[in-house]
Amino acid sequence: MLSKRAFLSAAASAVAASPLLSAPGRPSKRTYRRIATEEGFTLPEVDAAAAAANRATGGAGMPNNPAVREAFRKAARDLGAGRIAAMDAAGIDVALLSLGSPGVQSFPAAQASELARLTNDRVAEAVRAYPKRFAALATVAPQDPRAAAQELERAISTLKLNGVLINSHTAGEYLDLPKFRPILEAVQALDVPLYIHPREPAPSMAGLDLPGFNVGWGYGVEVGTHVLRLIAAGVFDELPRLKIVIGHMGEMLPFYLDRLDNRYVWEWNFRGKTPPLKMKPSDYIRRNVWITTSGVNYWQPLRYTIERVGIERILFAADYPYEDMVRDVAAIEQSPLSIADKARLFDSNAARLFRIV
Ligand code: MN
Repeated sequence: MLSKRAFLSAAASAVAASPLLSAPGRPSKRTYRRIATEEGFTLPEVDAAAAAANRATGGAGMPNNPAVREAFRKAARDLGAGRIAAMDAAGIDVALLSLGSPGVQSFPAAQASELARLTNDRVAEAVRAYPKRFAALATVAPQDPRAAAQELERAISTLKLNGVLINSHTAGEYLDLPKFRPILEAVQALDVPLYIHPREPAPSMAGLDLPGFNVGWGYGVEVGTHVLRLIAAGVFDELPRLKIVIGHMGEMLPFYLDRLDNRYVWEWNFRGKTPPLKMKPSDYIRRNVWITTSGVNYWQPLRYTIERVGIERILFAADYPYEDMVRDVAAIEQSPLSIADKARLFDSNAARLFRIV
């Protein structure tokens, strides 16, 4: 007789191989892995620190309903068999894990740095336990930029993590400020990607606290603006090999490329000055920015984004546990994307960028 776990795992494999998830007219045997690149987790210690500071974990995206909130927390805390079973049920082969928003970024510097180290040790353990199923992004505390750069070095060189994720602003400050340069310099020197993930918009982003639109619009404006701040400050002229990853199909930037280029030159000329950047704004987005599909696994925006930045810069993400992995895998598999492009989106682009073997 099958154990309950073996039964669940067999059932999950059946779902993963089901014709629903295969494009018609091709064998159900996939030739590519499915890597999901924005997959959240949390730790009891981080939740406890947030509760003690009376700060919610999970940002504005977390539901207020206690039962629903607890279900999300339970899923996010699972770095073992339960998460693997959920991945199997959706046909996800590898999850690139990252500490859920706002991570350690709302704590005092010393506590945040300590929790970042704990988080990296803990997630590295999970990757060692499931080396074919998990990869992970490091957590750092931008509150102390030098300590953050050191911890990033340790997370990449010693713990062998695959990059770093920062939940947008820290106490209302963005990474273009000179004080954060040690972090960006370490990111470039280590040649790993920096994923800028949303959190509740900074207080300076007045007007984005719109019930029902905090996440769907506020998060995009918050991170899209963060990327434009890096461009405007000349960060990519200074650090031309910096690799930035953003989710949600580019946080609305792909739709605005032409207008950004056109008005950038116009606005500087209007002020009687020469534009200070070496390249057009869109050139930096095409050279230094990679885009994931988290929360926006819809064919039309994907098709448009492929046209504007190229399939090689776009990676699949499911945003577990906040979005539905089964639905999102099905959406891409059933889209008109060619098999070769599905292999790029699901597997080889992420494998190359994050060095997932
Ligand atoms: Mn997310």
